Amino acid sequence: MTLITADFILTCNEGFEIIENGAMLFDERIIEVGKCEELKAKHPTATIIETPQNSVILPGLINAHVHLEFSANQSMLRYGDFIVWLQSVIKHREELSALATTELIGSKLQEMLKNGTTSLGAISSFGADLEACVQAPQRVVYFNEVLGSVPSAVDAMYGDFRGRLETSKEFKSERFIPAVSVHSPYSTHPILAKKALQVALEEECVVSTHFMESPAERAWIDEGSGDFQTFFSAFNPHAKPLCSALEYLELFKQNKTLFTHAVQAKKEELKTIADQKATLTHCPVSNRLLGVGKLDIDAVEKANINLTLGTDGLSSNISLSLWDEMRSALMMHPQKELSYLAKTLLQSVTSNAAHALGLSCGILKQGCYSDFIVTTLPQACECDDVALQLILHTHQTHLTFIDGEKQC
Ligand SMILES: [Zn+2]
Repeated sequence: MTLITADFILTCNEGFEIIENGAMLFDERIIEVGKCEELKAKHPTATIIETPQNSVILPGLINAHVHLEFSANQSMLRYGDFIVWLQSVIKHREELSALATTELIGSKLQEMLKNGTTSLGAISSFGADLEACVQAPQRVVYFNEVLGSVPSAVDAMYGDFRGRLETSKEFKSERFIPAVSVHSPYSTHPILAKKALQVALEEECVVSTHFMESPAERAWIDEGSGDFQTFFSAFNPHAKPLCSALEYLELFKQNKTLFTHAVQAKKEELKTIADQKATLTHCPVSNRLLGVGKLDIDAVEKANINLTLGTDGLSSNISLSLWDEMRSALMMHPQKELSYLAKTLLQSVTSNAAHALGLSCGILKQGCYSDFIVTTLPQACECDDVALQLILHTHQTHLTFIDGEKQC
């Protein structure tokens, strides 16, 4: 048993309890969290780790949505408009895929670990990130993605998806959890989505999907018009939207789902997401770079939806660090009270994300996996300001533990 002590312990529990002069007793699981002096007296034989002054212990961060297969992009893709970006992805896809080797993806995962990300939801389009994700020190929920809008290709697309899912299942463990992703309402035929969602139900897999990311998607799904009409008519002049937004949401009503983006979602759609007890994943930097608008975070809160945060891939971000993402989110929603938003964001990358992905971590409490990080603030800080100052000042962790093992 090990006892680690710090000036502050952010439990990230429901009440966002912070323990000053705290300590945590752990092995692979957390045994007890409390006041330093009390735990030291109670467990005199425990090995003690003292942390530097102004240190904070908090749960390891959880990136709910990242595309590692696009990790090679730096300046190749075009930003500012979703369709312009999509066309640049199509143009450079092969080149970027070839560059995104297991070694490159592995190095990105190591960087994420140094930033304090101990779990992630990896959206895998082709399975090219499988080896790196299986070898990753982090806990990975591995979303095998399905897409395809042409009815005649449904069987072939389903077969390919099923093959990748089965392969990923061979590596299933406490740290590698196979899951299912349905790409989006504009790209996935409802028959294909239904088949994949049925498998997810049977296999008890978590599900991820993109939903209402751009104004182009809104116009296409609602009216069959806009930039997506021009885009799709190049392949098929008779292309029509595959279903309405609410019909799409309805497909997921029995699944445990993370809906990503929802920047263009309407109130009734947010209500449906809330009623389905689903999660919404906010990717603020990606949304800004692709020029799709800004999530109505007040409406999400009002609808009482479980909120998580994702970096998306390096195809639409310059960093996979959740600290960078939280800093951006903090600046992007200036109407929210600063300290309150900081706490909301820390909850979104810890307990909310663990709940969404079905992981027994994200909160420092007895029985959870010992996945936690230690970060050190540059100076002393009021207890009430710890969440905000952490977001403002943290780049790398001082210590990172997964399953009670020190990683870096
Ligand atoms: Zn995405």
